[in-house]
Amino acid sequence: NRYWTLADEPVTGWPQQDTFVLKEGAVPVPALGQALTRTIYVSLDPYQLYYQRERTGPEGAPCHARTVSQIIESRMDGFAAGDFVFNTNGWTEYALMGEGVWRPGYMVPRKLDASVGRISQAVGVLGMLGLTAYAGMNLMASPQPNEIVVVSAASGGVGQIAGQLAKQRGARVIGIAGRDAKCKFVTDDLGFDACVSHLSPTLSADLAAVCQPGIDVYFENVGGKVFEAVLPLFNQAARMTICGLIAHYGDEDGGVDRRAALMKRGEPIFKTRDVRVMNLSVSEFAGQHEEMLAYLAPLVKAGKVKYREDIRQGLETIPTAFAEMLRGDSFGKMLVQVSPD
Ligand code: NDP
Repeated sequence: NRYWTLADEPVTGWPQQDTFVLKEGAVPVPALGQALTRTIYVSLDPYQLYYQRERTGPEGAPCHARTVSQIIESRMDGFAAGDFVFNTNGWTEYALMGEGVWRPGYMVPRKLDASVGRISQAVGVLGMLGLTAYAGMNLMASPQPNEIVVVSAASGGVGQIAGQLAKQRGARVIGIAGRDAKCKFVTDDLGFDACVSHLSPTLSADLAAVCQPGIDVYFENVGGKVFEAVLPLFNQAARMTICGLIAHYGDEDGGVDRRAALMKRGEPIFKTRDVRVMNLSVSEFAGQHEEMLAYLAPLVKAGKVKYREDIRQGLETIPTAFAEMLRGDSFGKMLVQVSPD
């Protein structure tokens, strides 16, 4: 069983090649109440950097990740050999799930129904990413027809869904993304009304030009200079959902202070324009998973909500793929396939 674990040194800044070590051990044997599973897809997400920095989870264990797996041997009620499951194997080929196996509180293993969607989507649009977008956009920001909605990291895992959800509600949706190909995808494939590049030297002016007469909803994934370009454009009584602040994740504190400062509505414009600032934590919406699926799965199946994945091949590619995702060299939701589906 091959797996990636953290090197002994503290994790600081952005991940480097020597942040992770590839190890090999025995394939674990399930006890009563557990199942042995083979990892198929490993989901790579920005929050994993926080877990690595904090060394969340058992020492020496595979780095945490949500996964799609297949059960090889089950001693766990409700799960049988051959079942496809959502679980949290992490960066490893094989792992146990069930009783006594560490996992983040709300990430409960569940059996997947292949008729609902592709199994890889269980760690994406039909899983935590769909729930994040649905909670932050529909339940929190609640855009109205013809309102102007801006979504940053618009071609990424969460952003592509969040923007399309706002389109479903009749809003005018503007994306912010990196490379030209991503901006083109956001408008031509996802159907956003416009997309500007944060790589443009005239980002603020570019954004202002397509956001007249101002921004009603901002779905924040990035922070940094992207936020600075959005800030002066907020309309009176606008709403901002803080989903993530990826531009700050390499800071010494991983962006924690920046998030707290925004939540305190530290910017004068928040007060003069009465902007509502809302903090999104998807774990608080675990109870809305079925509601999200009932809404989103039919839209995805019918092709009314599109969803792009960037699937890399092989366990050994994980650290490189992870670093690429963090710096924008992914295109769509980043996954690594470690065994056949
Ligand atoms: P993405 O697939 O969007 O990947 C991250 C993208 O962010 C990159 O591809 C890049 O796209 C963009 N990016 C990275 N650095 C910068 C930068 N300095 N300036 C501008 N853009 C940058 O990741 P996810 O969809 O998984 O996550 C998006 C956000 O949502 C993250 O902040 C994440 O932490 C947050 N999140 C929050 C959750 C919650 O519960 N609150 C749950 C899940 C995710 P580009 O090339 O376009 O710049």
